[in-house]
Amino acid sequence: MKKAVKIIGAGLAGCEAALTLSKRGLVVTLIDCKPREMSPAHSSNDFAEVVCSNSFKSSEIATASGLLKAEMDILGCSLLEIARTCSVPAGGALAVDRQLFSQRVTERINSDENIKVVCQTVDDWDDEPTIIATGPLTLGGLNDALNKKLCDSLHFYDAEAPIISGDSIDYLATFGGSRYGRGGDDYINCPMNREEYYEFVEALVTAERALGHEFDKREIFEGCMPVEVMASRGKDTLRFGPLRPVGFLSEGKRPFAVVQLRRENTTGDMYNIVGFQTNLKFSEQKRVFGIIPALKNAEYLRYGVMHRNSYVDAPKVMNSYLQLKDYQNVFIAGQLSGVEGYVESIAMGLISAHNIANFMENKPMLEFPDCTILGALLRYLATPNSNFQPMNANFGLLPPVTGIKDKMQKKIYYSNRSLDALKKVDLLF
Ligand SMILES: Cc1cc2nc3c(=O)[nH]c(=O)nc-3n(C[C@H](O)[C@H](O)[C@H](O)COP(=O)(O)OP(=O)(O)OC[C@H]3O[C@@H](n4cnc5c(N)ncnc54)[C@H](O)[C@@H]3O)c2cc1C
Repeated sequence: MKKAVKIIGAGLAGCEAALTLSKRGLVVTLIDCKPREMSPAHSSNDFAEVVCSNSFKSSEIATASGLLKAEMDILGCSLLEIARTCSVPAGGALAVDRQLFSQRVTERINSDENIKVVCQTVDDWDDEPTIIATGPLTLGGLNDALNKKLCDSLHFYDAEAPIISGDSIDYLATFGGSRYGRGGDDYINCPMNREEYYEFVEALVTAERALGHEFDKREIFEGCMPVEVMASRGKDTLRFGPLRPVGFLSEGKRPFAVVQLRRENTTGDMYNIVGFQTNLKFSEQKRVFGIIPALKNAEYLRYGVMHRNSYVDAPKVMNSYLQLKDYQNVFIAGQLSGVEGYVESIAMGLISAHNIANFMENKPMLEFPDCTILGALLRYLATPNSNFQPMNANFGLLPPVTGIKDKMQKKIYYSNRSLDALKKVDLLF
């Protein structure tokens, strides 16, 4: 008899997991609350709904998202294959016709004889082999079940500031140092003069925002106020808040305003823009934050986002196979597992499917080399972290390389190193 897996959530991760398991000869019950119940961001009756931007980001191999896609292709990703059949022109990026994409995934799911679809809002899980892929907007009692069974390890309402790559900062327009000399050169400070600051504030308050869903408006906490909302309270509010120029001098005088950059990783190649949690559209973040002289050419490893975000405290509750430590029959996939982004969510669907299948077939689960984006993401999810936050694919996660100065050459090196290593892995399926 064929082995059976239950998947809760027919979003990007759940659909990828279902198709992967079917290809491996397992039978799947795929459960989604749609169309009976919908989250505030979902509106289509189809599965694998792409809720906001239609971009799956770059396909260029010398980018982290391009490399992630290439790695997923090696594993036989179904949703990327479908995405390419309904792509729209987007330069080097893979962008899809969103409706067509969801429609094609749904058709594929519905016509697969190994997959049975059930419409139901799931409130809990049982002992059956299960993948939970209910996404950042998990509905119903499942939130409580995750909280209760995983010791309050589920996080809600999350605001994130962008992360930029260290080598894209214009250091000539910065100075090092912490306020009042506390902490040495821990921060990189980006000063602005009066004209630059007011130009920045004006652009910030008039910039186009991403989805303004009701849940966003209701749930914003003072402590994680989007920077544009704070700026709209008064043109000097930011100068008395996160951009206050007190506690240090630049070229012997106090700057008019200062944006601080904080290291995001130990190697210092990723920086968080302090206090810049934002709900601006990604393109607007690049445009508006680019008014800050030091960030004119900033490369965004992760854009800022502001929305309700349910995700498990992965290092505490999961191992690097996406398997719950205390419920070994249960795997977590998609954004709920602590990754961020469409393609990353699909990737976790793909991996959770192979791992649960291997687990049920008494085969070793997948081990990815650290130098692959998949391996680096899984390692990030499993590494103890007292302030765990969702992560997307970026080169800052990979073991650094020394001796290559040219930025493009470095990226090409990362990609070649990863694909060479991945091709040598015995994938056992
Ligand atoms: C508002 C918003 C905008 C976003 N914009 C972007 C963006 O532009 N680019 C980007 O890369 N990423 C974006 N993301 C992040 C993320 O990539 C997507 O949310 C992605 O769809 C996550 O995939 P997933 O499979 O984990 O969850 P989803 O695709 O959300 O799928 C979850 C599925 O589970 C179902 N479900 C939920 N609860 C239950 C339940 N209890 N029982 C049964 N079914 C249930 C839902 O109906 C849904 O079909 C955004 C997220 C949000 C919330």
